[in-house]
Amino acid sequence: MISLSGLNAAQRQAAETIDGPLLILAGAGSGKTRTITYRIAHMVDNLALPQKSILAVSFTNKAAKEMRERIIGLLGKKKARGLTMATFHSLGVKILKKEISKLGYHKNFSIYDSADQSAIMREALKSFKAGKQFDQKIIMAKIGKLKNQGIGPDDYADSEYFDDEDPYDHATHYVYDYYQDKLKFYNAIDFDDILFLTVKLFTDFPEVAKQYSEQFRYIMIDEYQDTNNLQFDLITGLTSTHNNLCVVGDDDQAIYSFRGADITNILSFERMFPGAKVVKLEENYRSVSSILELANKVIKENINRRDKTLWSQRKSSHTPLLWSMANTEHEAEVISDEISKHQSNGGHLGDIAVLYRSNTQAQPFEEVFRMNQIPYTIIGGQKFYEKKEVKDLMAYLTVILNPKDQLQLRRILNIPNRGIGSRTLEKYLEKSEQEDISLYEALYRYPDLDPNREKHIRDFTGIITKFKEVFDLQSLPEAISKLVEDIGFYEFIDKSYDSAKQVERRRNDVNFFIESAERFVKYNGAHATLKNFVEKLLLQDNQDTEEDEDDDIRKNEVTMMTFHSSKGLEFDTVYMVGVEEESLPHKNTIKNGEDISEERRLCYVGITRAQQKLIMTYCKERKLYGKDTPRFISRFINELDKDGFCVHQDRTTFGHMTEEEADDYKKGFFANLIDGLDDDSMF
Ligand code: ATP
Ligand code: MG
Repeated sequence: MISLSGLNAAQRQAAETIDGPLLILAGAGSGKTRTITYRIAHMVDNLALPQKSILAVSFTNKAAKEMRERIIGLLGKKKARGLTMATFHSLGVKILKKEISKLGYHKNFSIYDSADQSAIMREALKSFKAGKQFDQKIIMAKIGKLKNQGIGPDDYADSEYFDDEDPYDHATHYVYDYYQDKLKFYNAIDFDDILFLTVKLFTDFPEVAKQYSEQFRYIMIDEYQDTNNLQFDLITGLTSTHNNLCVVGDDDQAIYSFRGADITNILSFERMFPGAKVVKLEENYRSVSSILELANKVIKENINRRDKTLWSQRKSSHTPLLWSMANTEHEAEVISDEISKHQSNGGHLGDIAVLYRSNTQAQPFEEVFRMNQIPYTIIGGQKFYEKKEVKDLMAYLTVILNPKDQLQLRRILNIPNRGIGSRTLEKYLEKSEQEDISLYEALYRYPDLDPNREKHIRDFTGIITKFKEVFDLQSLPEAISKLVEDIGFYEFIDKSYDSAKQVERRRNDVNFFIESAERFVKYNGAHATLKNFVEKLLLQDNQDTEEDEDDDIRKNEVTMMTFHSSKGLEFDTVYMVGVEEESLPHKNTIKNGEDISEERRLCYVGITRAQQKLIMTYCKERKLYGKDTPRFISRFINELDKDGFCVHQDRTTFGHMTEEEADDYKKGFFANLIDGLDDDSMF
């Protein structure tokens, strides 16, 4: 029996309300996610509901994993087996893997990333009359938006989003149609398609929706404030045979409207699901009161919010800090020093997070951390899997799995160099069009189309055919190593780069890739197939990057991620870096004169990740487009730092610099002063 004594009265009431719609609407750190985990444990252990009937949806892979860990902590591994803990996207992939043939795709479909997408877009625009006039990025964004509204190419012209007078909309219409057709021809889908097609599946085949709804009798959705219309439609399908839906969220943490999230989903839940029970939670168990007071103060400035009172019993002598830094290198060095101190005092690095607005801000930290041997992990950045050699190998694996995938095939046809140039490729592309067969099939059937290249073409298709078998017979890392060897990939790297350092780095990337396959086998045993591996990596590309399957404890490494990715997580110590105007709020929001309340909510999300200590930093200067640009404290903090909610400390004069650096800095500092005097003087 699971005891619910770890919950307060309101949480407990929510955990025990199993049937019918339920909304838990409460502020940060009030135990919403904890309530879901206990609720699931209660259903399994106390009510003996089958694990298979329970579905919990989180917002990111990381959050889903943390929830799984918390549940294993309550139930033990054995009883937790069979529960479905997913993100909307991983759930979509799961469903599509089984059902996609109903939509005319083959079940071994590929998932394209943004680089693949833009390759097809380019092609589409090229074939459109006057296509050059249009900005591909704008069209891509439009298509993404349409997909997130559930509008396909056929419905676009009749939708409210289509303006007959707007040439952009006509271009978008053409490109969208071309793009979707091509994807299907390549047996590929893009990231937005995952939900778009799942919903289409549910709409076109209600019996499929019904079948999943009957399987998942109990559904819980975390971070419901950030669901979009498509996700809402998915939920509608999943609840088509019952209404056992529990959603939890916080309107103050809605930060994804730029991706089409619709806050009315949570605000009108009671209307959408009549008879819904509503539970509110007010005690924050996460943060010490000083941090919470700052958070409350920041978010209070937003108009149009449901006022909430959030309080904490956790007292502390710590007041949130606001540090001014000279520049980004300085910011990274000071924080790195602090973390080293924490480490040498025996502190755990898993307790620390560095949060920033944009992934590019991670770079100086990566460098300094590496130099000072501070282990770190980056969540959500695409660092490793974006590297060229890794993408090349991924393309090989994808083609071995799905030879119809033309983009990936084109990527590797001449890697390593086989002398198959664009002219040969053109011939094959023509052939594939003529006969309506895939490019791979054309290569396979007609190796002598270009007689000079016959041997190379045969070699290439030979490798793909051979490795289909090798991957069946050998373990994943063995097969990948063999592939690397057979295609002469290391030699190819040696020849491709001039500097020894570059060569070494690239070779290491390959080794690391093989190691990640080893880890995959270690954690997935018999399920470590090529297909699962590729799928996992492609999904991670869009969400979490690092392979990190350790079950329970957080590793001894600093976590770095954007404010957006940090949602739902908590850390003992949080460094919010770059708390500057034009970053938070973002410069586009300011420039376009848009509502900044979402930016303020983002700031609120950042602050409320901290349990014991919160340090915000800003740089007086930041290199932007190669130029040192002056920066200023974010208005969200600047408007209140005088009120004693945080302590402003100037770190630019502290002893972390060498004397020489300090001298240089001072010189710059005084030069500014003198400039200032000149400006003000009456001469
Ligand atoms: P967010 O809005 O940031 O997602 P949340 O409402 O989901 O926050 P949780 O992450 O569930 O909050 O809880 C915050 C912290 O407080 C966690 O460490 C959790 O274990 C703890 N906590 C929540 N409720 C209780 C409780 N009743 N007793 C003890 N600790 C609690
Ligand atoms: Mg939560």
